[in-house]
Amino acid sequence: MKKETMPQTIPAPHRGGHVLHLQAQETLGTADIRASVKRPSTVDEDTWIASQSKVIFEEAVRVVSFISDICTERTCPCMSAGEKVHYHWADETTAVPELLPAPQYMRRLVEWADAKLLDQDLLPLDGSPMPPELRPVLSQILRRVFRVYAHAYVHHFQLIHDSGAEAHLNCNFKHFLFFVLEFNLVTMDEMLPLDGLIRKFAGDLIQ
Ligand SMILES: [Zn+2]
Repeated sequence: MKKETMPQTIPAPHRGGHVLHLQAQETLGTADIRASVKRPSTVDEDTWIASQSKVIFEEAVRVVSFISDICTERTCPCMSAGEKVHYHWADETTAVPELLPAPQYMRRLVEWADAKLLDQDLLPLDGSPMPPELRPVLSQILRRVFRVYAHAYVHHFQLIHDSGAEAHLNCNFKHFLFFVLEFNLVTMDEMLPLDGLIRKFAGDLIQ
């Protein structure tokens, strides 16, 4: 990853594709959000990544809650990010990955991730060292959190914009984005559905 430098100019958004989410307005405070994901020197990396992941997950839960009135089984019969990207749900209880309506997928995601983040074998609260499986599990949670943002931007951006919540969505997504890029927790391939938006927000951080 390139060393962070503040861009002098904001890269022009790519043309074509999902035009709506590229109209997202730049919000104030981007530099602060970028700085906020940096690990303080007094905190070890696993502890920092765990605590930030919890905050970022809670922000995504609020996004899920916010779109719950407009994202229904009728509007969104499967969890998707555009016409060609469909996300199947899988966890310890599913025999085969399931294609679920978006609200059901997000509900399962919130319950599943909540249980993981409360699991003290994974995230000990007594000062014990974090286990080696912590990072892969947090990466998996964050990959799925990305899908919430992808769905919200691609399918519900206009209504989010019209309701005045665009800046809030952008702030939360930037927090997620700068964090996962800082610690290499989600690959660009996995975030392709929002590639144009990501390059607008963090083009200088991406090779
Ligand atoms: Zn939806």
